[in-house]
Amino acid sequence: MATEDDFKTMDQIIYRVAAKQVYDQLKTNKDGLSSEEAKERLQQFGKNTIKEKQGRPLYLQFLSNFISMMAILLWISGGIAFVAKMPELGVAVWCVNIINGIFSFIQEYKASKATEALKSMLASYARVIRDGKEVQILTDELVPGDVMLITEGEKISADARLIEASDLQVNQSALTGESNPVRKFSDAIHRNDLTNLEIANLIFTGSTVSSGSGKAVVFKTGMDTELGKIAGLTQNVTDEQSPLQKELNRLTKQISIIALTFGFIFFVLAVFFVKDPVAESFIFALGMIVAFIPEGLLPTVTLALARGVQRMVKKNALVKNLSSVETLGCTTVICTDKTGTLTQNEMTVNHLWLPDKELEVTGTGYAPKGEIIDGDHKITFKTNPDVNLLLTAASLCSNARILPPDEKNPRYTVLGDPTEACLGVVAEKAGLRLENIQNEQPRIRELHFDSRRKRMTTIHQLNKPIHGKNRVAYTKGAPKELIELCENVLINGQIQPITDDMKKKAMTANDSYARQGLRVLAVAVRYLGLDDQDIPTSLSAYTPEIIEQKMTFIGLVVMADPPRPEVKEAVQKCHQAGIRIVMITGDYGLTAESIAKRIGIVTGDHPRVISGLELEGMSDDQLKNALKDEVIFARVAPEQKYRVVDNLQQLGEVVAVTGDGVNDAPALKKADIGVAMGITGTDVAKEAADMILTDDNFASIVHAVEQGRAAYNNIRKFLLYILNSNVPEAAPSMAFLLSKGAIPLPLTIMQILFIDLGTDLIPALGLGSEKPEAGIMNKPPRNLKEPLLNRTILIKAFFWYGILESIVSLSAYFFVNSINGFSLGNLAEEGSATYIAATTMTLAAIVFCQIGAVMNCRTENESVFKIGFLKNVTINAGIILEVILLLVIMHVPLFQKVFGTAPIGVQSWIFLICIPPIILAIEEIRKAISRRIVQTHK
Ligand code: ATP
Repeated sequence: MATEDDFKTMDQIIYRVAAKQVYDQLKTNKDGLSSEEAKERLQQFGKNTIKEKQGRPLYLQFLSNFISMMAILLWISGGIAFVAKMPELGVAVWCVNIINGIFSFIQEYKASKATEALKSMLASYARVIRDGKEVQILTDELVPGDVMLITEGEKISADARLIEASDLQVNQSALTGESNPVRKFSDAIHRNDLTNLEIANLIFTGSTVSSGSGKAVVFKTGMDTELGKIAGLTQNVTDEQSPLQKELNRLTKQISIIALTFGFIFFVLAVFFVKDPVAESFIFALGMIVAFIPEGLLPTVTLALARGVQRMVKKNALVKNLSSVETLGCTTVICTDKTGTLTQNEMTVNHLWLPDKELEVTGTGYAPKGEIIDGDHKITFKTNPDVNLLLTAASLCSNARILPPDEKNPRYTVLGDPTEACLGVVAEKAGLRLENIQNEQPRIRELHFDSRRKRMTTIHQLNKPIHGKNRVAYTKGAPKELIELCENVLINGQIQPITDDMKKKAMTANDSYARQGLRVLAVAVRYLGLDDQDIPTSLSAYTPEIIEQKMTFIGLVVMADPPRPEVKEAVQKCHQAGIRIVMITGDYGLTAESIAKRIGIVTGDHPRVISGLELEGMSDDQLKNALKDEVIFARVAPEQKYRVVDNLQQLGEVVAVTGDGVNDAPALKKADIGVAMGITGTDVAKEAADMILTDDNFASIVHAVEQGRAAYNNIRKFLLYILNSNVPEAAPSMAFLLSKGAIPLPLTIMQILFIDLGTDLIPALGLGSEKPEAGIMNKPPRNLKEPLLNRTILIKAFFWYGILESIVSLSAYFFVNSINGFSLGNLAEEGSATYIAATTMTLAAIVFCQIGAVMNCRTENESVFKIGFLKNVTINAGIILEVILLLVIMHVPLFQKVFGTAPIGVQSWIFLICIPPIILAIEEIRKAISRRIVQTHK
């Protein structure tokens, strides 16, 4: 059994031994560890995790809620109240502060839990060999001795020694800061002057595979790795604030300044106009400040965003940070690729094209059930040598596997690239047995597919030499580019020079398939002799430039990849929402155009299709001009996406872009919202992105945009609601001041504080979880520069609701006076029973106004009855709770004393109950008019 000591100094010896001895050194073998051994080692070495930097301890997080600018303002205010000999007020203000602090902490805690849960959904996997089989395991479970497989785009999750490497290049920038990829080999190294990171046969946690593939044996995991050591040293990195957090901090300051200004005005009016004593006036001003401060704003907004994120998860979009939610809502352009995002990526070969005939292939899906038909007779690999070679080449030049149905999946499924998988399926339909041909022609080298070359080659050993050669290269890829590399063509088993006419004939066939939205791959072959002059003897010296030339064209394989059914509607939604879609694909222009037309991305008959080559020759100005119209980018390399995104951003667009490969990372980072594919995406793309689609589906981006818009709107609804009560809270004091005391103060400061906590906080939470409003995607995107607290909200809160609620609440005050025999010129004196009942009534009236208002705030222009009047449970519960609180302070003697309240009569209750429907009705009328205006302006 392996002990920890065996591995302690492993990094000092493991690079010196030959690849074959690595297994022995690490006490494993080519079949990998057995499951039991892996389990034991996991116990012994612990989980393979880098301990995250310790966040702020919980008590500090808790305390920070009591030392924000707003909180300090409240502490001082409370202190002043004590000095001014108003201890109840002092206690109350401090209570407000404490309750607000606790409330904020709970919200913050809940939001952080929600984001933590998201992080765990982003778990990454490693491919290892265990018990002789390739399996996927969580990277946490990697142990020393695991035989790990790596390929382009994957993240390396443990320190390991390479035992096989094919064109392997690794990006170690996370460890070294150097962003250029470094070459890695599997040979032993006998130098002493290298640091660990410079040793070319070692790979390290935190690096990513830039190209090529390899096999390595893990020798260090978790905190023992090089990254673990660095992480141990740098534990105190501070978190950056997101743009939204900054905006919110600014907003809190703005509102606090408004509060201070109002407080000051009230103070001056009280001292100089009413001639109140300075101390009393001060208290008065204090009340105003407290009334205006938006307690609970920051954490509630965070929670609203976190809820948005949770909803997006349900729609298959994982957002990595909260602030992306609001950027999503402003998206004006979505740059999307085609294969898999707009289409199903479930390829079925439906035609084979040979230079002398076209064949039909029947059957759908990955089940090898179907036939290859020439007119009216069936073809097999035995009856047609060209079909035999075409399908042997195509299926051997593939890394995908077809999995037969099992208990979990009742259908045939594939592991790997569907484009490659369907080639195996059609080969089986022709009667070829994949296992047999793989044994007859074992693969000895692969020149990986890359999106720039747009092709892939595999080299095989021939057990029986063909044409005197004992190796063969099979290449498949984009037809135009591959046919250009061919010198010969195979017709009826005969290799002959390829003519221009033949090339043209093949391209005409290719174009006619592409116009039907079909995907076409060309297949070619080259026999390689060991004594050929231009072929190197060492396999590792084979490069695409050397091998992919002088090829023999065999034919075309044509496959269907139908659009995803839900995409058409999503595209339509985008158009209604003023969001443009730009397709940027590696596929052929005609195929791209056909699909784009079919799903409605382009509406004109002749959209502009710009190829990668054309794009290269365009200046930035020309590109910007082209981007103003409907345009499709086809046959582009992933690097070119960056330029398109950059130019769109220069045009003022907010860009979301999709990507899956290593080379997509720069564009994903550059975009306002980088969207990586969860299924086909590489770790590198996922890391660079802001959002990951768990189903690779374009429609999910559109859902996420919708949720983003809704989350932002919900924050605004919440803001409007909590600002609504400010004016009615201030109006009674204003009435008192302007009447020089003839109207005894209709609402005391203690009562204002009760409203702030009783009514403002609880139902407001419910607004944060409102669903997207109907028609939210019928409006153009929001302007990114517009502040969160815009003029519309200020006008609505301070003038519309402010005045409405002030009139209602002051009327309530006068109403109680009048039913008790007082009149406007002769109001009940301060301290009298009628006065106490009247102020209680002002307070209750504001609470009831806010009940109507919270319902109104649920929608901007839509009728609340249309979205389900009682559907928001949090709001309903909040309303019930605040009415209970109101009853408590009216009836429990202790609270009566603190808040200066008393029970109110039946008439008053009838008055109160009438308020919400009136507020609701008035706003419903305004909404209806506003809808009408919007309709007529359409
Ligand atoms: P999109 O960019 O919309 O996802 P795509 O899959 O066509 O579309 P790439 O993956 O960049 O884009 O592929 C570019 C071209 O390379 C394809 O159109 C096809 O002709 C060819 N190709 C794709 N996959 C393979 C493969 N596995 N082997 C060989 N050639 C391939």
